[in-house]
Amino acid sequence: MRIIGHFIDGVETSGESQQFQDVFNPATGDVQAQVALASAADLDAAVASAAAAQPKWAATNPQRRARVFFNFVALINRDMDELAILLSSEHGKTVDDAKGDILRGLEVAEFVAGAPHLLKGEFTEGAGPGIDMYSMRQPVGIGAGITPFNFPAMIPLWMLSPAIAAGNAFILKPSERDPSVPVRLAQLALEAGLPKGILNVVHGGKSVVDGILDHDDIAAVSFVGSTPIARYVYGTAAANGKRVQAFGGAKNHMIIMPDADIEKAADALMGAGFGSAGERCMAVSVAVPVGEATADRIVAALKPRIEKLKVGPATDKASEMGPVITKAAKERILGLVEKGVEQGATLAVDGRGFSLQGYEDGYFVGPTLFDNVTAEMDIYREEIFGPVLSVVRSKTYEEALKLTMDNPYGNGTAIFTQNGDAARDFAARVNVGMVGINVPVPVPLAYHSFGGWKASAFGDLNQHGTDSIKFWTRTKTVTSRWPSGIKDGAEFQMPTMK
Ligand code: NAD
Repeated sequence: MRIIGHFIDGVETSGESQQFQDVFNPATGDVQAQVALASAADLDAAVASAAAAQPKWAATNPQRRARVFFNFVALINRDMDELAILLSSEHGKTVDDAKGDILRGLEVAEFVAGAPHLLKGEFTEGAGPGIDMYSMRQPVGIGAGITPFNFPAMIPLWMLSPAIAAGNAFILKPSERDPSVPVRLAQLALEAGLPKGILNVVHGGKSVVDGILDHDDIAAVSFVGSTPIARYVYGTAAANGKRVQAFGGAKNHMIIMPDADIEKAADALMGAGFGSAGERCMAVSVAVPVGEATADRIVAALKPRIEKLKVGPATDKASEMGPVITKAAKERILGLVEKGVEQGATLAVDGRGFSLQGYEDGYFVGPTLFDNVTAEMDIYREEIFGPVLSVVRSKTYEEALKLTMDNPYGNGTAIFTQNGDAARDFAARVNVGMVGINVPVPVPLAYHSFGGWKASAFGDLNQHGTDSIKFWTRTKTVTSRWPSGIKDGAEFQMPTMK
């Protein structure tokens, strides 16, 4: 059985604990590898390696640090196909989608190759007689990232790239469900010239996460995952005096106005609702058509598209949608579909009972469409994180906006319309962090920042963009006065601008 080890001090190791967990192929249900689970001693070894390497890395000039990222980007591109196939084999998403996962992370590695510019401080000449004042951004020291299963390349790259480019050492705790690609990324970073110890990977679940949150030598923690764990990580890390950002779950609404191009809106909903089997934090899981006629038209446009969707393993190039991540996830999703039926939603396309010859033990769920969903139903209230799209009919734009705003989550949202006024009003008023106008999955590019509002994010500062540089650095402000400006004698008042 293949063992997926930790990556500590530049080498892959199965660690001290000698405990392992199965890693499945979601398309077949087979165990294809085992991942090592870190003990406290394994985490300590990773932190010790990081602590030993970090001062020299921080003292390396930012151009040199940036050059490692140029190399890193080239190596990821070199190995793109291999990485995408490996990613698909553990996650289940199609190979093209896996490439998208890697590329969206790669773009952040490209962005931080501009570290010398991004890390420049501020300077005020002549803040007082003979006085200059400047501020600089210095690394926090050792940062840690805890990542979810659904983007095993993108989210680790979102975190580790700015952290490392800013001069930190980094401990990555990826999802134990698809841990291979994060380890490959760490190996590539070493090959790119990153000193050993600057990027360590430790695997495991709650106990290693708790170890990170309690570790005195880890200064900052970035988390992405479900809302209950995000809340826990935020509270625990903050109580331990760490800098923390924690991104949680989502229930993203897409409003379809009566003037929208229905064919384009339906195409957009297919990708946004069923891409990656709905296992995206920016997936649209709620379509909100405005007016009965719009609702009838969008449901009629969606049904044949969903029925034609090709579901299959990533190894079949024709597959448009793969399995979900685990057997437990499949059962949970199907349980919610049952509840939707019991609670009175109209099952417009039934994905239950989907089966694929040769893949009977795979974790496939057929794409499912519910109409006439209401805000009280469990399928509306819960983040399903599967290929299930709910249509909530609304009478007016205001009602659709209110529904979106009353939802506890606030990650992404979209409006489809040809009316500039409506689009502008929506973008201005909605209490959601990322907004699409005729764009269903409005994931900001690397040089803007990514983050939700409400129960989708805890803490300050977003992922990537200039926010990420701020998150992984501390500001130090220096006030200097040179001898010509110093007066004789002590001053006892608070310095003020006279
Ligand atoms: P998860 O919360 O189960 O796991 C996330 C991480 O936390 C993993 O590394 C896991 O090992 C760890 N973990 C699990 N249980 C823990 C516990 N009890 N204590 C401490 N750590 C624990 O999430 P997931 O199922 O891997 O990912 C899917 C979730 O992530 C969805 O809710 C999705 O919306 C969310 N997500 C959010 C964003 C975002 O940017 N807001 C992006 C991607 C995914």
